[in-house]
Amino acid sequence: MSLRRRLVLTVVGLTLVVLVGWSTLLVLVSARELRQESELRASQALDLLRGPSAVALSRHEVESLDPLFEGAAQGDLLEVGVLDTQGMVVAHSDASRYGERIEDAFVLEALESQERVTERVELDGVSALRLAVPVETRSEMGVVRWGTLVAVVSVERVDGAILRTMAWLAGGSMFMLLVLAAMTWSLISTRLVRPMDGMLLAAQSIKNGDLSARVPVNEPDSLGEIAVLAGVFNGMARQIEGQTSILEGRVARRTAELERANSELARINQRLSRAVARLADIAKTDGLTGLLNHRSFQEKLNLELQRCMRQEHPLSIVMIDVDHFKAYNDTHGHPAGDQVLREVSRLFRVNLRELDIVARYGGEEFAVVLLDTPKGAAGLVAEKLRQAVLDTDFPQADLSQPEGRITISLGVASFPDDGLAPGELIQMADVALYEAKRRGRNRVIQAGELLSMIRTKK
Ligand code: GH3
Ligand code: MG
Ligand code: MG
Repeated sequence: MSLRRRLVLTVVGLTLVVLVGWSTLLVLVSARELRQESELRASQALDLLRGPSAVALSRHEVESLDPLFEGAAQGDLLEVGVLDTQGMVVAHSDASRYGERIEDAFVLEALESQERVTERVELDGVSALRLAVPVETRSEMGVVRWGTLVAVVSVERVDGAILRTMAWLAGGSMFMLLVLAAMTWSLISTRLVRPMDGMLLAAQSIKNGDLSARVPVNEPDSLGEIAVLAGVFNGMARQIEGQTSILEGRVARRTAELERANSELARINQRLSRAVARLADIAKTDGLTGLLNHRSFQEKLNLELQRCMRQEHPLSIVMIDVDHFKAYNDTHGHPAGDQVLREVSRLFRVNLRELDIVARYGGEEFAVVLLDTPKGAAGLVAEKLRQAVLDTDFPQADLSQPEGRITISLGVASFPDDGLAPGELIQMADVALYEAKRRGRNRVIQAGELLSMIRTKK
C-alpha cells in the first residue's frame, strides 16, 4: 500500500474513532436530557391531579374523580389512575379498570415509597414510561398516605427525537470524514509525497551513476521538514560527487603512473632479454674468432651424431692445426698471430656450407663437423680448406714459415666408418691429423687410410 493511502487511512481512522466517541457522548447526553424533560412533564401533569385525588380519597368521594380522569389521558399521557393503599384502582382514565387490583413489582414498590417511582415499559409495542407518586395530605398531625397516583407516558416522541439526532450526527460525521479524507489526500500528495517522489527519483539516479542528480528544493507547497531534508540530501549528493571526482582523478593519475612504470619495465625486460641472449651467445662462442667454442662444439657434435644415427645419415669431422704457428708468433708477435687465426677462421666459414659446424678447438687448432657428408666428400672439403689457406697471402709469412706460406694440416674421421661415438671419432681424426704432421704437414689424412695401412702392414 502506498504511503499516501496509508497516511490517509490512518488520519481517517483516527478521526472516525474520535467522531464516533463524540457522537455517542452527544446522543447519550441529549437522550438523557430529553427523557428527563418528558419525565418532568409527566410528573407535572400528575402533580396537578395529586391535590384533587388526596381530597377525594380523604373524603371517600372517589367517584368525584371520574370526570377529572376521563379527560386527563391525552397526548403523550396514555393512561392515568389512582390506587388506594392496597393497590386497588379507585379511579382511572379507562373506566373499565375500576376495582382492578394491581400487584406487580412496580406498584408494590410505589405503594411503599414516599418518592416518585419510574419504570420503562413496552406497552402494545410502544415505548413508555410508568410513573407513580404518593397521594397524601399534610397537617399538624403529620402526613397521611391516602393512595398512589400512577400514569403511563409514551416516550415514542422522545425516542424519535433521539433517533433523528443520531441520524443527523451520523450523516454529519460521514460528510466531515469525506471532506477530511479529501483534504488529507491533497495535503499529503502536494506537501509530502510529491517532494518525496522527487527525492526518490534523485536517489535512484545517483544509484545508477548520475551523481549530478539533485532534488528540487523550491517546491512551494512542501513541508518545512521535507524542504530541509531535500537540502541535506542535495548537500550529501554534492559531497559524494566531489569525493568521487577527486577519487577518479587520483585513480587516473595512479593508472598513468602505473602505465609509465609498466612500459619502463617492459623496456628494461627487453634489454635484459637481449643481454641474456647476448650472454648466451658469448658463452657459446670464441671471443677471438667468433666461431663456436670447445664446449659448444662437443654439445653440437653429440646432438648431430644422435640425429645421424636415427636417420642413418653419414657425418664427418675434420681436426685442423696451423703448421709451425709458434714460429709465426715468435717472429711477428702475438697480435699478428691472432690476426692469422681470425683470417683462417674466415676462410673456413666462407668455404663451408651454412649448416656445417665450425669451432675453435683450442690454441691454433680447429674442428669442423660436416653434416650428411660421407668420408669421400669430406676428404674433398678438407682439401678445399687446405688449398684456400695455402692460396692466401698472410703478411710476412715468408720470413717465419719454413714453406714461406701459412699452411694447415687436416685429419678426417667419418661416421659410421671410423667410429660411432663422438669421443671415438675425435680421437680418430686427431690420429689422422698427427699422421699429416708426421708426413710433412700441409696435407689431409683420412682415418680410413690409416686403418687400411695398419691392416696391410699386419
Ligand atoms: P706444429 O706445426 O707442430 O703444429 O708446430 P706449432 O709451432 O704450430 O706447434 P706448437 O704446439 O709448438 O705451437 C703452437 C703455438 O700456437 C704456441 C702458441 O704460442 C700459439 N698459440 C696458441 N694459441 C694462440 C693464440 O690464441 N694466439 C696466438 N697468437 N698464438 C697462439
Ligand atoms: Mg697445435
Ligand atoms: Mg700447430
